[in-house]
Amino acid sequence: MTDLLLNHLGGKWVAGRDSGSGLFDPVLGTELVRVDSTGLDLNAGFAFARDQGGGALRSLTYRQRGELLSQVAKLLQSNRDAYYEIACANSGTVKNDSAVDIEGAIYTVSTYGKLGAALGDHHALADGEAQPLAKDGSFGSRHVQVPSRGLALFINAFNFPAWGLWEKAAPALLSGVPVVAKPATATAWLAQRMVKDVIDAGVLPAGALSVLCGSPTGLLDALQPFDVLSFTGSAETAALIRSHAAITRRSVRLNVEADSLNAALLLPGEAAGSQAFDLLVKEVVREMTVKSGQKCTAIRRIFVPQELFDAAAESISARLAAVTVGNPRNESVRMGALASRTQLTGFHDGLVHLRQQAELLHDGAGHALIDADPAVACCAGPTLLGCRDGDRADRIHDVEVFGPVATLLPYRNRDHALGLVRRGQGSLVTSLYGSDSGALAAAALELADCHGRVHVVSPDVAASHTGHGNVMPQSLHGGPGRAGGGEELGGLRALNFYHRRAAIQAGAAVLGALAP
Ligand code: NAP
Repeated sequence: MTDLLLNHLGGKWVAGRDSGSGLFDPVLGTELVRVDSTGLDLNAGFAFARDQGGGALRSLTYRQRGELLSQVAKLLQSNRDAYYEIACANSGTVKNDSAVDIEGAIYTVSTYGKLGAALGDHHALADGEAQPLAKDGSFGSRHVQVPSRGLALFINAFNFPAWGLWEKAAPALLSGVPVVAKPATATAWLAQRMVKDVIDAGVLPAGALSVLCGSPTGLLDALQPFDVLSFTGSAETAALIRSHAAITRRSVRLNVEADSLNAALLLPGEAAGSQAFDLLVKEVVREMTVKSGQKCTAIRRIFVPQELFDAAAESISARLAAVTVGNPRNESVRMGALASRTQLTGFHDGLVHLRQQAELLHDGAGHALIDADPAVACCAGPTLLGCRDGDRADRIHDVEVFGPVATLLPYRNRDHALGLVRRGQGSLVTSLYGSDSGALAAAALELADCHGRVHVVSPDVAASHTGHGNVMPQSLHGGPGRAGGGEELGGLRALNFYHRRAAIQAGAAVLGALAP
């Protein structure tokens, strides 16, 4: 039997009561490690995190906590080779795809480390200026933000075991709030290993960081009113969580990042083969293939003027045909595996569902696997679908198939295009391609209400733009409506979730002494 990963709870490494379940290599099919979190005393462990971890973190200033994050970033950096090995084995990703997760995590932690330095040696944050409540100005009101005195529980998705943990943990720890991470079971190894490295190095105070591997029962029952819960995963699980008493009765603050039908839109007026057209083609192929399309931000719907439909289909398909698929250990392979057999089955079922309303423009099944046994490896070639009537294609706008697939759709004019993008009912990101700055800015504003982020690509930023799917810590991540309604990152905005805002009413001298 393979090694059992330990949980870290109550300041100790603890094993679950049972032998647990296996985590697998999705390319070779071999079991790698086991996880189990049954029988843990969650109430005691959570109390330790709140009291010991939270207390120790809150005794530090923002600058000091920022320094801890900088140390964490350096530590993770020094161990990165081991993380790449785990990612390759447990997520089936090629090096470039593992980097999106691992380097993205490290960059995010180090960014919040620097933000901490800028916040200085304080224990609370001011929220706006004081407002007079008395005519002579002797009495007034000032809002402050203070760290929540609960813990932050993160229930994460399988596709970003590293970044998914740290993009939440960095702002929480900077805020002074202890973290309990529950990575998705299938790929929990990388998150557990990163936590283990940080704990073993003694960088953070006891209780500041805990990890639970597997699916502990009663997880949400252990939450208390001042805790916060950040969930990333499917809309179905999100709905279950929203209805739990921790949320409905105890008012635990909840952030949800769920699935999303992200779009790419080539604005009218661009010819086939123009720079804007080529930028769209390149970005679409990148988004479809990075991490085998298992990115919450991946482009699922591609909108082009109807007269460019065939040219776009041809250009995207030609690039997709060159994508090599198979064992990520083979250097000639560009795209590795999906994360598990469950994901591969879900992908194939999803394709069948979408095909009812779409034609096949590039068939992923035509990609022979390199260095991998098709009967074992959870690999799938990239598939481009096309749907010439986007108005009637409800499945294309409603169903997120979590793998290397996207659908090309034509539009008649600008308003028609923007209306079709909105059919996603709230998305994480849409990217716009064009060369007319005014038209791009107008379209970005028009789509801003139903997206967390609008990524605009014009020829002048061809070499410098950060990519449709890359989530930068400086920008907001999340989306309204079906994307979950959550908000993460966005620089210091992320700290709001881990703070409580209160109005302090007092005389001018007291108000002045509250916060910077
Ligand atoms: P999932 O099946 O919903 O699982 C997500 C997490 O919830 C896992 O840790 C899972 O644990 C846990 N979970 C499942 N049932 C639960 C319950 N009843 N109570 C508490 N926790 C529960 O989603 P997934 O398949 O891992 O992730 C894929 C989805 O995530 C996609 O739809 C993708 O779009 C979305 N996603 C969104 C973002 C974003 O930022 N918006 C980022 C990444 C992924 P177990 O693994 O132990 O079952």
